[in-house]
Amino acid sequence: MAPASAIKQILVVGGGSAGWLTACHLARQLQCQQPGSVQVTLLESSDIPTIGVGEGTVPAIRQSLQYLGISETDFIRECDATFKQGIKFVGWRQAVSGLPHHYYHPFDYPEQQSVALTPYYLLNPGTDSFANRLTIQGRVCDAGLAPKTISHCEYDGLCNYAYHLDAAKFAAFLTRHATEKLGVKHVKANVRAVRQHADGSLASVLTDTAGDISADFFVDCTGFRSLLLGETLQVPFISKNDILLADQAVAMQIPYAEPDSPIPSYTLATAQAAGWIWDIGLSKRRGTGYVYSSQFADADTAERTLRQYLGPAAAALPCRHIPMQVGYRQSFWQKNCVAIGLSQGFVEPLEATGLLVYDAAARYLAELLPLDTRLLPAAAAQFDQHVHYAWDRVIDFIKLHYVLSDRRDSLFWQANRLPETIPASLQAKLSRWQQQLPSQYDFASRFEIFNLDNYLYVLYGMDFTTDLTLRRSCYPEHAVAERHFSQIRQQACQAVQQLPAHRQLLAQIQQYR
Ligand code: FAD
Repeated sequence: MAPASAIKQILVVGGGSAGWLTACHLARQLQCQQPGSVQVTLLESSDIPTIGVGEGTVPAIRQSLQYLGISETDFIRECDATFKQGIKFVGWRQAVSGLPHHYYHPFDYPEQQSVALTPYYLLNPGTDSFANRLTIQGRVCDAGLAPKTISHCEYDGLCNYAYHLDAAKFAAFLTRHATEKLGVKHVKANVRAVRQHADGSLASVLTDTAGDISADFFVDCTGFRSLLLGETLQVPFISKNDILLADQAVAMQIPYAEPDSPIPSYTLATAQAAGWIWDIGLSKRRGTGYVYSSQFADADTAERTLRQYLGPAAAALPCRHIPMQVGYRQSFWQKNCVAIGLSQGFVEPLEATGLLVYDAAARYLAELLPLDTRLLPAAAAQFDQHVHYAWDRVIDFIKLHYVLSDRRDSLFWQANRLPETIPASLQAKLSRWQQQLPSQYDFASRFEIFNLDNYLYVLYGMDFTTDLTLRRSCYPEHAVAERHFSQIRQQACQAVQQLPAHRQLLAQIQQYR
């Protein structure tokens, strides 16, 4: 017989992407650990919509989908998904000779090669961009190509990739997978009140149409509202808006001009006076939005900026204004309740960190969760420590994009470089990296969300200077490095011949039996 302290019922409240990902991870893990002894239930409101944005991902999503037993073909077909090979940043530095500055943060990670190529690029930069010297992926993106062919296996490709997806369809797809394949129970009702035990831990949620639902462990996936952790358990929210100034978004979905318009296999992030615009190509439409700071632009100006960017095609289309809470909860796990998703934390979606952090946190929770309530405090302390670390590193990385900008054309860009807005952890690294290269030791934790390669692409894509003059003799392998650079150029030419157009591959996947 299970002890009185055993966890037998887990209730996930909230059915956005975060809620369903968490339910899938918990159910998948519990299937292996204790088949049939723990029931995962997901409760969501039919009246309160999900946030409905969140279309960009990073490559780690592939491991998760595969681990959860999801077919890539089904996922692509049902979520209108497309391939994402990185992010193209336009205008994040001042234009040179009238041409807008641009660079790629691609997903291929060449520093894992035997010879670290970065110092050789810095010692002899030439005319090619940093990304183009180190990987073929920028050229593949520029040519409008997919990262793989139809003959590659699921989740495998010539280039590393993630996806763009329709957030509402993704949540619906995960709903089917969780309920049909992983045994998650699905309840639709509104939570009207939350009942607590005498020690403050959660006992049940009282709903309008499904009665009182009790559980031993609760996951708060109720979005920005944070109904369980924030409202009920009163865990304060720590704002990081003093570091990351963007706190609003205006979003718009827009059809393609023609049914066969090319679909970029990257997210386009174009800097504006008070923030930046995302432009994402899904298989059936584009998803776009202006992420901006309300200190430097009002809602009307922001909407006008987005409409101007989109041109006449957007004139009659509706848009949605979305306030963003930037920061995270002081604690993510209190007593028998953990928050995952927007209820846990959020920063502007520049590097698609939402799903990335929520998915990683959900998988971590699934592995860490003890099935004996007496062990919860130790697990909570560990989870809190590690997930806080992850959020702080995410904030450093997003801030990096602004700190490296030399734009002076608006107060927003100037304010972003004020020393008091820059975290000390980031400032210390940048000071050191002016004289020595970033190294793997700078990213030593298992809970790094962004690693060496991600930093290198942004640093040197944005023309950061590391002075290697005094260390020149540490890098004697010029000939070997040059051979690598030349191979990369050749591989790029071959790849451009071999890979199909992005839209063509998506059409093949739709037809593939
Ligand atoms: P939500 O989608 O808000 O879901 C909340 C759920 O809680 C809903 O099901 C609702 O019905 C339920 N609920 C609330 N109250 C109750 C109640 N009383 N009773 C019952 N149920 C209740 N992430 C990325 O990874 N990539 C991106 O490109 C990206 N872009 C973004 C752009 C913007 C402008 C914003 C704001 C976010 C973006 N994100 C992005 C983050 C992304 O939106 C989230 O990753 C994702 O949608 C998860 O949201 P969620 O599930 O936490 O919350």
